[in-house]
Amino acid sequence: MPRLAVIRQDFCQPKKCSLECYRYCPGVRTGDETILIDEKTGRPTISEQLCSGCGICAHKCPLRAIYIINLPSELEGRCVHRYQPNGFALFELPIPRAGSVTGLVGQNGVGKTTALQILAGRLRPNLGKEEATQEELMEFFKGSELQNYFRKIGEMKVVYKPQAVDDLPKAVKGKVQDLLEKVDERGVVKELIRSLELSDFLNREVKTLSGGEMQRLAIAAAASREADVYFFDEPSSHLDVYQRLNAAAAIRSLAAAGKAVLIVEHDLAMLDYVSDYVHVLYGRPGVYGVVSSPRGVRVGINVFLDGYLPEENIMFRREPIKFEVRPLSKAEVGGRLLLSYPKLVKVFKGFRLEVSPGDIYAGEVVGIVGPNAVGKTTFVRILAGEIAPTSGKLDFNLRVSHKPQYLRVDFEGTVEAWLHQQLGDFDPSFTPEILQPLEVEPLMERELKSLSGGELQRVCIAACLGRQADLYLLDEPSAYLDVEQRLSMSKCIRRTMEKREAAAFVVDHDVLSIDYLSDRILVFTGEPSREGRTHGPLKMREGMNLFLKHVGVTFRRDPQTGRPRANKPGSALDREQKAKGEYFYLC
Ligand code: SF4
Ligand code: SF4
Repeated sequence: MPRLAVIRQDFCQPKKCSLECYRYCPGVRTGDETILIDEKTGRPTISEQLCSGCGICAHKCPLRAIYIINLPSELEGRCVHRYQPNGFALFELPIPRAGSVTGLVGQNGVGKTTALQILAGRLRPNLGKEEATQEELMEFFKGSELQNYFRKIGEMKVVYKPQAVDDLPKAVKGKVQDLLEKVDERGVVKELIRSLELSDFLNREVKTLSGGEMQRLAIAAAASREADVYFFDEPSSHLDVYQRLNAAAAIRSLAAAGKAVLIVEHDLAMLDYVSDYVHVLYGRPGVYGVVSSPRGVRVGINVFLDGYLPEENIMFRREPIKFEVRPLSKAEVGGRLLLSYPKLVKVFKGFRLEVSPGDIYAGEVVGIVGPNAVGKTTFVRILAGEIAPTSGKLDFNLRVSHKPQYLRVDFEGTVEAWLHQQLGDFDPSFTPEILQPLEVEPLMERELKSLSGGELQRVCIAACLGRQADLYLLDEPSAYLDVEQRLSMSKCIRRTMEKREAAAFVVDHDVLSIDYLSDRILVFTGEPSREGRTHGPLKMREGMNLFLKHVGVTFRRDPQTGRPRANKPGSALDREQKAKGEYFYLC
């Protein structure tokens, strides 16, 4: 059985421990060199040859930096890449196919971006050694479609849309229009400007764009280039539902033109809509990842939600993820009214938001949906008391806890220190009910400034829910989170509201998260950056119907998992549901 000994460098801090890994290792105690300590850095390395797999070091390390993993024998010799000895290991690779979109789904940190980087020729696979020769690579992939792929990788042209579009201004300067004209090798830029709605900011400098504008520009620029293989790493970030579906259509058009496309995506509705095949990636974040064989998109996503790969006989999650039909909301069964607000108007230069009167009940979660730039964040900030309405008055005496959309935390110190600064002493239920389900506990000793986007998001959600409040406001909590984290976050919000008899407004663009956590829906419509208005809060069916009618897309439910699935535009189901006015089937 192959064994991995992984030391997470981001967790290991020899200055904060007593080298327990070294002191308690039975191999070291009997005088061999199972663990060596680097004289300069003080960090340990574990010899996987000498290690007996007893797991004592992993158990004793106070910072939980060590993982000793016994892998299934099928993975023996199948490591494609390892960053360093005792580093993250990736097993197998996805297969790009001409004329198809291949999706990758899995937790953050199990190697999706690493797999894309390897296939894009940006990272040379080392087969788990210091270096692998071309002959060794050919031998490794012998008999699979990847053998031919790696034979031609140097000659193929690839285009890569990176995950972090916020960094785009560092790489490109100038106006949007000039940039697009420069990269339009396929002669499709006019069509992409129309379909991705870029015309409003064509004359702006790239550095002035918002996250959503930057994402659409990056997708348009990638799809305009001529290449054999296209890679899109998380193209839905910062986009609203309507923009996500337009981006999906632009990506699909590449496959229709015979190109091979690979996409990493956490929005399952978008992944479902855009992909022909799906590879499920499983493993342990930051430790190892395994790319499973490709499956058709419906089966692939269902297998992922099930947490069980039947052909491989591998269970990678204890519990399947199910989308249950929601019981009646507190508003429908006559719960305790927590807040009712009158008509509110907010006017900025060139923008007007009109909020119709609404309410929220104790124990309730109201999902907020709508296009970008029609005032969702403005509404949340009015409720948070950060900005005052131009007309209408909020008159309530509730404790409010707010997690803003953009996370800027200027703090020198650990996650634990920051959480104590925010919350004081932790409530006894904070760790089991919030820190553990949000997977913040393992981050407590990390410096706050060293966290990734997804880690910081989870810490900020924990801080928001950790405050004793009556009204919780969470603006785009699913950004940067993977599917499992989104669903854990949704459950955590629901549980907190029910237990504390509090209520939450949650702004989000992920249809599955909204469906999973909301009792009712507040729908925003309007013209982006010009005017916005609210409808509701409405019952789920009514709200989702109104919202999706504006987006022009219909959803059905998967009979096996209950998850919402977007219908292909113009399909029989799409036409039938539109004719009935049923844009979103509840069951
Ligand atoms: S692995 Fe753990 S016990 Fe060993 S040096 Fe690092 S932090 Fe200390
Ligand atoms: S698993 Fe056991 S033998 Fe291996 S390094 Fe850790 S303590 Fe030593």
